[in-house]
Amino acid sequence: MDCLFCKIASGAIPVERIYEDERVLAFPDIHPQAPVHVLVIPKQHLASHAEAAAADTDLLGHLLWAVGEVARTRKLERGYRLVINTGPDGGQTVDHLHLHLLGGRAMHWPPG
Ligand code: 5GP
Ligand code: ZN
Repeated sequence: MDCLFCKIASGAIPVERIYEDERVLAFPDIHPQAPVHVLVIPKQHLASHAEAAAADTDLLGHLLWAVGEVARTRKLERGYRLVINTGPDGGQTVDHLHLHLLGGRAMHWPPG
């Protein structure tokens, strides 16, 4: 499949593997928007959050846990923001589900 994040998950495109287990992978965003900007993806291809099915709930829960592990190791005690851009209006640019972990600075609200 011609999917950038599938290639990263498989190792075809090398990245710093910040956290990895059999189901998920965390790696740095190539264009960081905060001092800490990590992407967490399922290794299995899922095009977007909108595509998630009831059968994916274990995986989605595992993703949320894994991003918490990364936040803890990055010492983001003051907090952080999790973002899942979904579809054109959500600003999604890579069609493989990914969770952004942003931290190391104060975030603004409302988001752009
Ligand atoms: P989206 O806009 O779909 O929510 O997020 C896609 C993210 O992937 C962007 O923040 C972008 O900087 C990041 N990205 C795009 N291409 C690459 C790449 O080749 N390597 C890494 N590490 N991140 C990428
Ligand atoms: Zn993919």
